[in-house]
Amino acid sequence: MIPPIASNFVAGESPAEALEHVETLNDRGVNAILNLLGEHYDERAPADEDAAAYEGLVRDIDESDLDACVSVKPSQIGLDVGEDAFRENVAAIAEVADEHGVFTWIDMEDHETTDATLDAYEALATEYGGGVGVCVQANLKRTEDDLERLADLPGKVRLVKGAYDEPKELAYKDKARVNEAYRDYLEYMFAEFDGGVAVGSHDPEMVSLARDLHEEYGTDYEVQMLMGVRDDAQYELAADGVEVWQYVPYGDKWFSYFYRRAMERKENMLFALRAVLGR
Ligand code: FAD
Repeated sequence: MIPPIASNFVAGESPAEALEHVETLNDRGVNAILNLLGEHYDERAPADEDAAAYEGLVRDIDESDLDACVSVKPSQIGLDVGEDAFRENVAAIAEVADEHGVFTWIDMEDHETTDATLDAYEALATEYGGGVGVCVQANLKRTEDDLERLADLPGKVRLVKGAYDEPKELAYKDKARVNEAYRDYLEYMFAEFDGGVAVGSHDPEMVSLARDLHEEYGTDYEVQMLMGVRDDAQYELAADGVEVWQYVPYGDKWFSYFYRRAMERKENMLFALRAVLGR
């Protein structure tokens, strides 16, 4: 069982608990992106097992009639085993998700996985005419070129600042420079994409920039934030008519995810502690 301190950031261990959380989100106008926790499997069996779990999850989402989609990590479904394993598993998930009308996101991991991830996305976005999305990272210098490639494809693109510690030859390391790249890339997406712009950030500045860019270019967009991070802002944006999706992790591998969230900001730890103490 997940202790209360972690349950601010993780919806439970089972799909049923995760879907229960989604119901409360949907009641408040927020959609959900479900992520089964797990990454870096170097054997095929657990990768196939998690891919099968995602297929079961999209069936559950369809049956429950909730506003939810899934987001998968390439190294969770086979990329560390080999590109073929990843391509087979992500294609199988996208096929079942498409049959059930559920959207599939592909998370982005470190720079060594970018090409394989974008190649898989391109094939699926073309095949399913837009029922899939991919994440790109503002800290990577290559993202400027990647966005040009992505602009011509159907599907959605989530822009994040980037969570991985990348080499300085390939990535901006300075926070202000990453923010500048985020602003530039976001403007490019609003100007050049037909829609499907996802703002994956808790940063009030980026959320407000997205609102301005939407007014300027008329491009459809959504805001995505993590469960347990600025939850009130998520509800307020949704009440204000913005399409909001909360990224909802679940599963028995919750500890390292919770530890990362708690360590990255002292506000996260204080928030979790206050929730446990009831004040
Ligand atoms: P930051 O630069 O961390 O913070 C900017 C401002 O946001 C802060 O000054 C503050 O005002 C506000 N803020 C941030 N956190 C908090 C908080 N806890 N409480 C209150 N205010 C806060 N990264 C990847 O590399 N690959 C992925 O696939 C990926 N997927 C993601 C999906 C989603 C939905 C989200 C939200 C993030 C994802 N990330 C991913 C992580 C991302 O790269 C960043 O590491 C993370 O979002 C932190 O950057 P930020 O834009 O939220 O803001």
